[in-house]
Amino acid sequence: MRIFYADQFVLPLPAGHRFPMPKYSALRERVAAVAADRMRVADAASDVELLRAHDAAYVRRVVDGTLDAQAMRRIGFPWSHAMVERSRRSAGATIAACRSALESGCGVNLAGGTHHAHAGFGEGFCVFNDAAIAARAMQAEGRAGRVLVLDLDVHQGDGTAAIFAGDDSVFTCSMHGRANFPFRKSASDLDIELDDGTADAPYLAALRVALPRALDRAHPDLVIYLAGADPFEGDRLGRLSLSKAGLEARDRHVLDTLRDQGLPVAIAMAGGYAKDIADVVDIHYATIRCALALWGAQCTASPAASS
Ligand SMILES: [Zn+2]
Repeated sequence: MRIFYADQFVLPLPAGHRFPMPKYSALRERVAAVAADRMRVADAASDVELLRAHDAAYVRRVVDGTLDAQAMRRIGFPWSHAMVERSRRSAGATIAACRSALESGCGVNLAGGTHHAHAGFGEGFCVFNDAAIAARAMQAEGRAGRVLVLDLDVHQGDGTAAIFAGDDSVFTCSMHGRANFPFRKSASDLDIELDDGTADAPYLAALRVALPRALDRAHPDLVIYLAGADPFEGDRLGRLSLSKAGLEARDRHVLDTLRDQGLPVAIAMAGGYAKDIADVVDIHYATIRCALALWGAQCTASPAASS
């Protein structure tokens, strides 16, 4: 089980910007204290890899810095070469996490989950759609035929749903706040909409219904799991009311189920906007600790996990 990070590729942001850039280095440090030997820097996603999920004109404008002001406002970041590199690295880390998953059972990207990126535009702090790019990369490399993108970020995975609309080989499942961003949602293969204020018990009950339905319909060779930290009750953008224990139970249920069924899983962190970044890091760290408990020991002994 490999863990990939990209936090040294910092995205320069103006003071007061609400994207929680510091969470990535804090999370990497926390994970390094228990699993440094598993951690790697992934290659940047190449143009060929980006173009399997994105329109050529969009990729060119992102890379050249020629998106217009409205398109940049929609993304929510100022353009810079560093923004492009950061976005490529984050997508590359999900690709690498998928390869690790297919070799050892599980792989982790300590960033990623940029699910609002569509084929032809970025939105909501998402430039490139890492899950879509990685799913298509695994198919192109002949490593996986069918992929399930299981998106438990509190916001709907609209970009992923739109990219794979009409593609039966990738099943998209999103469980999210009904009243939350994006306000015009795309249709996933399976959408579960939750009311504002949904707490642990009803959330977990909905998950226990949705997950087997998604697995049954998707028949995946690989699962890409977006383990968003933003269903947390203390999240500024979340509108749900899950506790940290509830989020840990969510991760345990998902990862136990996948492990029991022998399904490889690549985990991306996705959103997390609690006022105190330490809370976001706690939640993401608990996800990784859960994965390490399930796949960590097994992979230490496996020579297949060396790549
Ligand atoms: Zn989110």
